[in-house]
Amino acid sequence: MPKMRVAQISKPGGNFELVERDIPSPAAGQVRIKVQACGICHSDSLVKEGHWPGLQFPRVPGHEVVGIVDAVGAGVTQFKTGERVGAGWHGGHCGQCDPCRNGDFFGCSVALQITGISFDGGYAEYMVAPALAFAHVPDDLSPVEAAPLMCAGITTYNALRNSPARAGDLVAILGLGGLGHLGVQYAVKMGFKTVGIARGADKEPLARKLGAHHYIDSQAQNPATELQKLGGAKVIIATVTNGDAMSAAQGGLGLNGMFMVIGAAQAMTVSPIFLLSGRRSVKGWYSGTAADSQDTLKFSVLSGIRSMNEVYPLERVAEAYERMESGKARFRVVLTMG
Ligand SMILES: [Zn+2]
Ligand SMILES: [Zn+2]
Repeated sequence: MPKMRVAQISKPGGNFELVERDIPSPAAGQVRIKVQACGICHSDSLVKEGHWPGLQFPRVPGHEVVGIVDAVGAGVTQFKTGERVGAGWHGGHCGQCDPCRNGDFFGCSVALQITGISFDGGYAEYMVAPALAFAHVPDDLSPVEAAPLMCAGITTYNALRNSPARAGDLVAILGLGGLGHLGVQYAVKMGFKTVGIARGADKEPLARKLGAHHYIDSQAQNPATELQKLGGAKVIIATVTNGDAMSAAQGGLGLNGMFMVIGAAQAMTVSPIFLLSGRRSVKGWYSGTAADSQDTLKFSVLSGIRSMNEVYPLERVAEAYERMESGKARFRVVLTMG
């Protein structure tokens, strides 16, 4: 039986273990890929720390996966051996339940699957997933370039294109990390007057380089006041995982403005009077499906949008994960498989 190396977590709070396993075979409706690259997302801590309810160990994390189709199960017609594909957070759905029949695949009530949580993810040399999980990856993107777009990219791109902002509107991206540095680029290329918000004056050159029209240093300035001086934001995309930072920025919404939460913070404070008097709203956004990922990849090629990455080989997974957790990575950490 041919073997593969994977980086698994075998108990909540456990360390990464590099182990050999048999290469799994794809069942009906599944696709096996030879993984080329996998981004490390903050949400992988849900596996590492065992915070996802019902998670079964051992588990291989990773939901920013890019690789080459290596085998397909019975009934798979949309992918062929040798094609390059990617998988993100959304790993599958039933297609039959009421939410699925309404097109709300993220809300599937029967068989919602999440890559690297419901089944083993991309911190591995091979991965098997439902065909529904995979997007076609354009040749213009290298595996390392494409991987972070499968979660950080799709989440910011899809939130922006589903927001109420129209060309020329003021849009703020809160946080300039793995998600935020992509969010600024997408917002600029979609034609929004774009504001980057982060802590410290040292982030301003980066924000400007990514195309931001304005920068707000949330340590030195009140982000809500500064956004109001610019006329108030139609949309604020909150990529941070800190509820206090979200609370401090929500007051920057203009009339009919929408605060879109894509960072997993514990709690945030909003003023009901501020919301109702300006018909403002707070909305969460779920990343998207494989079809949304394909759109993200195509738009990234069209607009020249790329993630800035720090690359580590799979065997240095512990160090790479630590780097992501430190918050010091510039800006996405990506594993490559030898
Ligand atoms: Zn993610
Ligand atoms: Zn369903």
